[in-house]
Amino acid sequence: MKIRFKHGAGWRLTCRDVFGIFIICLLLVFICSDKNFSETLNPPKAYVKVDRVASFKIVTDPSVSEDQIDNIVSSIRLASDNFENSFGIRLIYCDSEFWPNDEPSANVLTLRKDIANNPCDIVIAFTTRQISGNVSTIGIAAAETVIVRVHKDARLQGLTLAHEVAHLFWAVHVDKDGMIMSPELKMTENSWDELNRRIIILNKYQNFHKYDFLRF
Ligand SMILES: [Zn+2]
Repeated sequence: MKIRFKHGAGWRLTCRDVFGIFIICLLLVFICSDKNFSETLNPPKAYVKVDRVASFKIVTDPSVSEDQIDNIVSSIRLASDNFENSFGIRLIYCDSEFWPNDEPSANVLTLRKDIANNPCDIVIAFTTRQISGNVSTIGIAAAETVIVRVHKDARLQGLTLAHEVAHLFWAVHVDKDGMIMSPELKMTENSWDELNRRIIILNKYQNFHKYDFLRF
């Protein structure tokens, strides 16, 4: 089927049409230049300043391979990429230091005492020791602090890190296969469940320093 336009049958603009188009253009300019509206469409990124802490034993123990030391850097990058792609949250380095004494088992309270007055938003520490005296624990999160046991697999370590950092944004465990917030992380788990996605976005711009007056 063909549509033909007859000669002279075009649409003629009246003064009212021109005025209507002018008002629509004015509204579009107003909407596009409105900061709140554009932020709703494309919310700004949140940057979380990270103090990277490595247990001194990691660099002195010959049984820890160079690959495992490399995994510290790559797992933070993997977790940061995951958070940036999923929530617009980027982990950036603020400081880097050694944890001289994580014996006999690494725990949050001892770590925070060892690195008191830390200016960063969160602390991510890597250890070769048991965490809080538990053999099977590969990561823990509390009081703006994450401790992760070094692992041979950077991807699993990155997922563990993403899981623990998510707890700092108040994410909770879900008993659902394939989810990063499953209590027991497996290699196949790499998705965010809808509940935790909403919780993390809600806390995206949280102030990590609101309890700074509480001294460890
Ligand atoms: Zn957990």
